[in-house]
Amino acid sequence: MDLSFSPDEEAFAADVREWLAANLEPPPAFADLDEEVEWGRRWQARLAEGRWVGIHWPREYGGRGAPPVQVAIFNTEYARARAPQPVNRVGINLAGPTLLSHGTDEQKRRWLAPILTAEEIWCQLFSEPGAGSDLASLTTRADATGDGWVLNGQKVWTSYAQYARWGICLARTDPDAPRHKGISYLVVDMQAPGIEIRPLVQITGEADFNEVFLTDVFVPADQLVGDLNQGWAVANTTLAHERGTSFPFKEQVVHEVFLDELYAEAAGAGLLDDLDVADGLAQAFVELRVLRLHNWRTLSRLGRGIEPGPESSWVKLAWTDMTQHLSDVALRFGGRWERQWLWSKAASIAGGTSEVQKNIIAERILGLPRG
Ligand SMILES: Cc1cc2nc3c(=O)[nH]c(=O)nc-3n(C[C@H](O)[C@H](O)[C@H](O)COP(=O)(O)OP(=O)(O)OC[C@H]3O[C@@H](n4cnc5c(N)ncnc54)[C@H](O)[C@@H]3O)c2cc1C
Repeated sequence: MDLSFSPDEEAFAADVREWLAANLEPPPAFADLDEEVEWGRRWQARLAEGRWVGIHWPREYGGRGAPPVQVAIFNTEYARARAPQPVNRVGINLAGPTLLSHGTDEQKRRWLAPILTAEEIWCQLFSEPGAGSDLASLTTRADATGDGWVLNGQKVWTSYAQYARWGICLARTDPDAPRHKGISYLVVDMQAPGIEIRPLVQITGEADFNEVFLTDVFVPADQLVGDLNQGWAVANTTLAHERGTSFPFKEQVVHEVFLDELYAEAAGAGLLDDLDVADGLAQAFVELRVLRLHNWRTLSRLGRGIEPGPESSWVKLAWTDMTQHLSDVALRFGGRWERQWLWSKAASIAGGTSEVQKNIIAERILGLPRG
């Protein structure tokens, strides 16, 4: 396996580094999430000006049509420069790619460009109080009217709903059909009458996510994505991107930087002889190396046109263990690491829980029988 980059790929990496060196300013300390999001919008707009948002999107919609290797290179350089994540992550990583696959030309023209510039932030209205891992048990209803649907129900854990202009929403359009068959995929105007957003405070003290109550919310007919009652297939596109291939590359580098900082801090505090600290750092180092090797294997397979299958569940699980172990060590240093430790708890829940990943690995990789 050839792990070296071609001259074109090296040149691309140099372009990314150069642009970031010229444009990236370290984010200030934010008083609250509102300030952080405002700053994030400006930073993303600047990135978009340089055409550095959604680089895997087709050129005609503002991307660069970048192949997987370039996306991996971009994420590596971006994380190494400690650049903050673009604020419109749901738009860039979930809604945009889903619209590209299933949207009409009119929907693409209307919605894609302001996603990249962060003019319009998106949120994901999938989870409900009674539907998380088992998403197909969702009960939010969309009842047909002459020219669209009327939505009633409740969503939960909706990240950035309070900043969002649009939401991708799963709702039941045929209550009599089998669970997976009566669901449709709608784009909801988050400023429409009948939407109530209640922030949920996390253990970090921040309120990134929300409960969203939908009472007689009107959704016009042209905001249906894909065919009526075929929303499950469209949702699978969104979920495949949520657990997509670029995420582990970015996380690998973010955590390599994190480990370097922690190592320096431990050395500075004379803690490298503390067996717990030394063991924890060594363990994290090994876990990160395994993740790196796995990422290289993924790249090599993608280069040969092989799409990742259920092994992406193994990657999610390996990343979760690694970030939680590393954050446990970091907690000993207090200060800014406390927030990191609190956030690491979300890793085993968001994007599919660890138990669900283990089920997928057991059934689809190991071929074990369903319990
Ligand atoms: C930081 C963060 C951001 C999020 N943002 C969004 C968002 O923007 N939009 C959105 O729609 N959702 C969002 N979510 C919600 C997320 O998708 C759900 O939390 C996740 O799907 C799990 O669902 P649940 O919380 O209902 O837990 P449940 O599915 O109720 O699970 C509870 C427990 O039961 C276990 N369990 C469930 N089923 C099985 C099984 N078959 N076998 C073994 N164990 C099982 C789970 O592993 C878990 O430990 C976010 C979550 C987090 C943590």
